[in-house]
Amino acid sequence: MIYKIGSRGSKLALAQTESVCRELKKRYPEHTFEIVIVKTKGDKVQDKPLDQVGGKGIFVKEIEEMILSDEIQMGVHSMKDMPARPAEGLIFSKVWKREDPRDVLILREKKRLQELRHGAVIGTGSKRRAFQLKKLRPDLQVVGIRGNVDTRLRKMEEQKLDGIVLAAAGLHRLGMGDRISQYFSEEEMIPAPAQGVLALELRKDNEELRKMLDACADEESQKEASSERQFLEAMGGGCHVPVGASCVKQKDGTYRFYGMFGTEDGSRIVYESAAGSDPGTLAESTAAAIRRKMAGTVFLTGAGPGDPDLITVKGRKILHQADCVIYDRLADPGLLSYVKKDCEKIYVGKENRHHVMEQEEINRLLAQKAMEHKVVVRLKGGDPFVFGRGGEEAMFLKKLGIPAQIIPGISSCIAGPAYAGIPVTHRGTSGGFHVVTAHDRNNKLADIDFEGMARSGETCIFLMGFSKIGEIVQKLQEAGMSPHMPAAVISRAASVNQKTCIGTLETIEERVRKNQMEPPAVIVAGKTVELSAFIGPVRQQKPYLVTKIGTKPSRLSELLRGRGVSVTEIQTGSIVMTEQKFTKDMLQKASWLIFTSRNGVKGFMKNLQDSDLDVRCLHHTKIAAIGQKTAHWLKKYGLLADLVPQIYDSGHLAQCLKQKAGKQDLVCHIKGKEGTSVLRDTLAPLCRYHEIEVYENQPVKIEKPGSPDQYAGTVFTCASSVRRFFGSMEAKTAEKWKREMRCFSIGTGTTSALQQIDAAKICEALQADYESLAAVIGKDVEDVSVSED
Ligand code: SAH
Repeated sequence: MIYKIGSRGSKLALAQTESVCRELKKRYPEHTFEIVIVKTKGDKVQDKPLDQVGGKGIFVKEIEEMILSDEIQMGVHSMKDMPARPAEGLIFSKVWKREDPRDVLILREKKRLQELRHGAVIGTGSKRRAFQLKKLRPDLQVVGIRGNVDTRLRKMEEQKLDGIVLAAAGLHRLGMGDRISQYFSEEEMIPAPAQGVLALELRKDNEELRKMLDACADEESQKEASSERQFLEAMGGGCHVPVGASCVKQKDGTYRFYGMFGTEDGSRIVYESAAGSDPGTLAESTAAAIRRKMAGTVFLTGAGPGDPDLITVKGRKILHQADCVIYDRLADPGLLSYVKKDCEKIYVGKENRHHVMEQEEINRLLAQKAMEHKVVVRLKGGDPFVFGRGGEEAMFLKKLGIPAQIIPGISSCIAGPAYAGIPVTHRGTSGGFHVVTAHDRNNKLADIDFEGMARSGETCIFLMGFSKIGEIVQKLQEAGMSPHMPAAVISRAASVNQKTCIGTLETIEERVRKNQMEPPAVIVAGKTVELSAFIGPVRQQKPYLVTKIGTKPSRLSELLRGRGVSVTEIQTGSIVMTEQKFTKDMLQKASWLIFTSRNGVKGFMKNLQDSDLDVRCLHHTKIAAIGQKTAHWLKKYGLLADLVPQIYDSGHLAQCLKQKAGKQDLVCHIKGKEGTSVLRDTLAPLCRYHEIEVYENQPVKIEKPGSPDQYAGTVFTCASSVRRFFGSMEAKTAEKWKREMRCFSIGTGTTSALQQIDAAKICEALQADYESLAAVIGKDVEDVSVSED
């Protein structure tokens, strides 16, 4: 038999593979062993740090693919380059005798770390090594370095580095042990898990080769390596974060285990060690101790169904604090607008048949993210414990010692019927309700006690039953429920696309089909369904599309939500402050400073501070603000506005200033790069009018908003949003929006931008501020409700 062995082409990789090949040839002379060189992504990209290229897998993927397709039968890698688990269909053989696991220092001139000058420069590509070096000698400067052993040695000379850190194993294998200046003990510098161990990877079904490889195993190395890998896996197997593990056999036959784990940026690093007789137990206890110190809290949070406003106040508060949100398909993505700008968002879309991520993977992800962040929110549709597998996640985390908290949500099993006007219980009609899942693990109809349900006379609610509605109504009837029993199906409950179908056990299936209903849906059977005729559904209000600048939820949206208006936000720009150098002289010369926005105030103050000045240099200057809000922002910085027009817009501000400013007066308008020319047009002929741009509203890529009939109206608070919003659409779509969509405008500037693009239905706030705009929209919602009745 000919066995082909895949290897990377570097000198070290080849030395490793050759040693394996030699051993196999010696043991199995009846077979032929050949080395095949494979170029991996990690070999091709040499200039970037490893964690930016794609982590550990990058040295192995191509080799693994060739093993899977049987082009080669096995691959030889360094175990420390391997992800915590081998690829699907592949396994590792038992571990052969391990090389020296320690890290070593190679110095250009000196002999030991202690001899290095203050601030000496050491090269390493590994965060694990860098952080530990800093621990030993905080004064050292650590620089990134990559490449194979020869390259690194060359770079050390060329870049005049004082030294580099490498693995002892590699140098020994290359016969370069004499270059080593100093060995670090496992305690001083914890090596990578399974450093010095070779990973022999082969197909799971290649029994014969496995037996051959396992016969060369070394029991002691196997024990140590397994425990170190076990630790790696217990820590989430992350490749972007520094992890170290070392299991060292002591003279008395017991073991000492050293573990380290840190965040990607090194802001938190924890070291732990434990002693005992079983390496596996030591790995677990060390991992648990580190987790206890490092782990943040996972909040298993209910998002409610459909309408994003159905999340609890507590749920929303925790979203504000989240460093990472892991969410499902059933949780409304609109909720993500509550999170901080730098919050990591991970979609693990759990949908009926096509689970995007298996539950086990999600569990591991939760644990991994809890190690990286303080606040991790696991956001689930409805309530996390109602068919949400929240219990499994909570138990998994608790077992690992990671704190988990539950924030319940409004479950679709109650809210769905409620939104259709169906109470789940009603005095005298139904004294209780049953909620069951209709499908089991194998996607078959679950083993449900239909007899018990029918006998109880109570409301029966089925989740995950849409595709099985025929079977459900049949089983209920077989169990003794009358074919005339009222039944309802509520699909996409509490969303603007909610559809409700009401009938009886006999008719409901047909009606659902005719109405082309779609999942997710709640099925209800019971007498309370009839009450919907008297109670009526919760009125479904289409959301208003609110254009906003920046990523945070806009204050306008908050005001609208406070009034019970449903809102979808769309970002049209972001604010970037511009740098201006102010001088005392220049500011003292100004008779008036005009502020027309909050960003103008913020940008001005920032530049004032950056110019090493403060508000005292404005003591001669008068200040005008376009409205009370801007005046309020000025007040926060200790500045009182001398002038605020009665009506908050540029036209009125200009008229007021016209009366105050004389020919000699220098009037400075603090503004954004864009904006109207009203002030300039009025004031420039009358006085020395000067504009200072302190911020810029920069365009962003605008997401596709869908179609106009999804929204009750679109809300604009600046002219640039109008231009960008319509400009981002194809001509035909834009035409449709302009014709059909009601556009709400904050004031004259925005309105004239809407008029310029020929928007057909424009509605302007009475005064140019958020409160007035929210009032107009609030009134609009009430009017729509009345006219529909
Ligand atoms: N934890 C969720 C239920 C998850 S199971 C909760 O408490 O609501 C998924 C099932 O929930 C779906 O198959 C459907 O039966 C129901 N469901 C979830 N959201 C829904 C919605 N907006 N409208 C109707 N049914 C919904």
